[in-house]
Amino acid sequence: MVTGVRRRLRTVAARLRRAYGEAPAPRHLPPIDELVLTILSQNTSDVNRDRAYADLRRSYPSWAGVAAAPARSIARAIRRGGLALTKAPRIRATLRSLAGRGVPLDEPRALAELGDAELWNMLIGLPGVGPKTAACVLLFSLDRPHFPVDTHVHRVAIRLGLVGERATAVQTQSALQAHIPPDLVYGLHMGLIRHGREVCVARRPFCSQCVLAVLCPRVGVVDPR
Ligand code: SF4
Repeated sequence: MVTGVRRRLRTVAARLRRAYGEAPAPRHLPPIDELVLTILSQNTSDVNRDRAYADLRRSYPSWAGVAAAPARSIARAIRRGGLALTKAPRIRATLRSLAGRGVPLDEPRALAELGDAELWNMLIGLPGVGPKTAACVLLFSLDRPHFPVDTHVHRVAIRLGLVGERATAVQTQSALQAHIPPDLVYGLHMGLIRHGREVCVARRPFCSQCVLAVLCPRVGVVDPR
């Protein structure tokens, strides 16, 4: 069973790589930068996330400055990313919580020296940080093979039958994490996101153009065209 899932994941990854090419290299931002960027990415586009991040860094050149700032000022700085009134206190609480644990907020290598398990536990213990955000920090910042499951990866994984119909995103992440070979984590994550955005879209997926159709039990069943 385990071998079967792993083999399917390898086939999915190979097909996505052939269709979309190698994924661009990760950004390798310092871990705390990646953490804030990921919080800003919630429910918005990459473009607006990046605008909000740039605006925040322009307004507050240090993370210590963000941790000390009034939430409404942070919200003003990140307004182009959407949901600013929710994200501003979340970012501030996360930074304060890190500082409270003795993490030097403006040290670029902060958190990078921690082992996988210690860092994972610290991240998911922060306010407003769940498994997806923690995996983004580990994967994109530190090249550690943790598999983030966002809305696109979640949808495609269910349609492909990699997880059960009712699996939540968190359950999907932990199920796939257990099976994905470490060397495939980054490429498969990036490939599935692109596939979910461009082909296996939420409404009316383009099954007739799908490079995964031969593997998919739902081909043509999900709102056929
Ligand atoms: S065949 Fe259709 S439902 Fe299946 S992965 Fe491709 S686009 Fe999604």
